[in-house]
Amino acid sequence: MNIRVLGCSGAIAAGYKTTAFLLDDDVLIDAGTGVGDLPLDALAAIDHILLSHSHLDHVLGIPLLADAVLRLRVAAGRPPIQVHALPETLATLQKHIFNGAIWPDFTRLPSREAPVLSLHPFQIGDRLELGGRLIEVLPAVHTVPAVGFAVDGGEASGHAHWVFTGDTGPNPALWQRLAQLRLSHLVIETAFSDDEAELAHISQHLCPTDLGRELSQLGGSVDVRITHIKPGEADAVMAGVQALISPHRISALQAGQEMAL
Ligand SMILES: [Zn+2]
Ligand SMILES: [Zn+2]
Repeated sequence: MNIRVLGCSGAIAAGYKTTAFLLDDDVLIDAGTGVGDLPLDALAAIDHILLSHSHLDHVLGIPLLADAVLRLRVAAGRPPIQVHALPETLATLQKHIFNGAIWPDFTRLPSREAPVLSLHPFQIGDRLELGGRLIEVLPAVHTVPAVGFAVDGGEASGHAHWVFTGDTGPNPALWQRLAQLRLSHLVIETAFSDDEAELAHISQHLCPTDLGRELSQLGGSVDVRITHIKPGEADAVMAGVQALISPHRISALQAGQEMAL
């Protein structure tokens, strides 16, 4: 099992793509602008999209991906791409993106019977089985309904989990659950520097001081990767992060990085 970082930035600029991870060849975790770097045949190989929440930096790849791969998938007789998310997230996509005004409704195209996208609700705590891989839906605390994910590395890894927090402020329920799991990696957001702590709190993101409090609830010594930093803010955020006293190995996540499970 392999996870490739297609994008991990909190906004865009040349060389900075927003959140998207590719699990093996066929499962996309969030669909930010990083998706657009995949060649067409790789886009057409995606069978599942898991969404952490409805914010644009995490979903804008879906409507464009659906349009890009429709012909190839229909020609190959492939089933709809399954979009998995909270019911509230799916309702938001349907109402505000696939509404015939922002974008055509690809849950009914090219036909109602055989569309290119299908929507599949999940709940926090669900364990999805996608092509033999187990992915648990974790709680998150954000300005809209939101989740994180834990990908089970399977027996060969001793059930080590790759965990992605999604966008979240302080999240006690997450640490309760993670205390029961073995972790290979923790990808956690730190969207703002301490100078912007107020903004972090209003928008339910973390700053380095919050991150320190959060990580103090995580046992052991874990490979922690920081995500969702805005372009131009990496030095300020990582200076705050590196100043934390922590038993964990903390570094900034980079686009293009691969993490084996
Ligand atoms: Zn968000
Ligand atoms: Zn975001």
